[in-house]
Amino acid sequence: MNVDSLREIIPLSESEYCEECQKEKLKGWTNSNGLEEKLIKLAEVEPFKSKGYETYNKGGEKPSSIDATAALSYYPYNGSSVYQCGTCQCIILIYLETAGHGARYQARWIPSYIRLES
Ligand SMILES: [Zn+2]
Repeated sequence: MNVDSLREIIPLSESEYCEECQKEKLKGWTNSNGLEEKLIKLAEVEPFKSKGYETYNKGGEKPSSIDATAALSYYPYNGSSVYQCGTCQCIILIYLETAGHGARYQARWIPSYIRLES
C-alpha cells in the first residue's frame, strides 16, 4: 500500500479513544501488546524508495515523537504493515522491532492530522 492508497483509507474524522484498539496510547511508536492479533491486516507498506534503517528527521523532528511525519520510505515505516481497527476504523501501522532485547511488535496510530510522505 503506497502513500496515496493509505491517505484514502485514513478516516477524516474518528473517535479520539477506542476500547478495542486503545489507539490513544499509540500516538508515537509503542509496544503493540498483541494488537497485531486483534486488528485486521490490510497490506504491507510500499515505500516509494526504501531508505533501509535510515530514519526521517528533516527539520530536526524526532522519529519517536507523537507528531512525527509518517515517512514511508524511512525506517520503521518501510517495514511496517497496515492494520485497521474493526471498531473505530482507525489505521495503525505495526512493525517487528528486532534490535535490542529480542523481537517485539511496535505500533503507531496514524490519524488524518499526521503528515504522510511517500
Ligand atoms: Zn479502534
